Amino acid sequence: MELGLTGRVAIVAAVSKGLGRAVAEELAREGAHVAICARTATTLAETAAHIQKTTGCEVLHQALDVTDFTAVAAFVTAVEARFGRIDICVTNAGGPPSNSFENTKPEDWRSAVDQLLMSTVFFAKETLPRMQKNKWGRLITSSAVKQPVDGLLLSNSIRSAVTGLARTLANEYAADGITVNNVCPGYTRTARLDGLASTISASSGSKPEEVFAHWEREIPAGRLGTPREFAAVVAFLASERASYVNGASIAVDGGLVRSLL
Ligand code: NAP
Repeated sequence: MELGLTGRVAIVAAVSKGLGRAVAEELAREGAHVAICARTATTLAETAAHIQKTTGCEVLHQALDVTDFTAVAAFVTAVEARFGRIDICVTNAGGPPSNSFENTKPEDWRSAVDQLLMSTVFFAKETLPRMQKNKWGRLITSSAVKQPVDGLLLSNSIRSAVTGLARTLANEYAADGITVNNVCPGYTRTARLDGLASTISASSGSKPEEVFAHWEREIPAGRLGTPREFAAVVAFLASERASYVNGASIAVDGGLVRSLL
């Protein structure tokens, strides 16, 4: 299937590793110009060089924290100055730590809101008016909310707000040729998931491989997902071909969530 991504300009946030990195690589492989960010300049530069080498695409990269509105605004301005337009924005950030309600402090809540919700607001605020000018755009958020994940209090709570935001923006911007969709990753093998397995292992006394085996038993596909499987769905939603998919929350989880819709 021709996705029609050649020459499109895509911003992908939080990209030095994991899901974001796979998404940026997939979009570049499909011919898009990509602009990426993460906090650690060295790993970000290595990621940009890797994507450039494997896809032949020029990759703009800027080290920044997605919770810093001024930095996000300057980045989006730099991307537009370099590539002339912005067509696609994939928001993403690291996940907040797992903890019980009892042990979660007010500042943990604030920091998770900044990380997950406000970072999405910042990118949406800066990219949507630019997409409106061109009467074409794709905003894609990433959030697992169809079913809470045990132990991920902050993530379960605040990602629901991201989904509410995405669904509302889908209504408000559809008339301008912009779609807004939300992708919900299941258990996907990344550093974040390795860290979660270690935390659960430390508190439960099970070995990390037993934690992974438990997750795999929950998934009808019987295995964890790969970042590339997640990225393929994002690339489709970003494409010309997904023009009538709007306001959707799509699980990429091997059948983990049992809901009908
Ligand atoms: P990951 O492997 O930990 O990668 C996170 C990436 O985000 C890194 O490149 C990190 O680079 C960057 N980052 C983190 N905080 C940032 C910030 N404040 N500003 C800019 N960049 C930042 O995580 P992942 O597995 O790809 O997950 C990505 C998101 O999906 C997370 O929110 C995670 O909770 C969620 N998720 C993951 C899974 C899964 O199974 N993997 C499932 C459901 C949801 P720097 O540290 O250099 O900034």
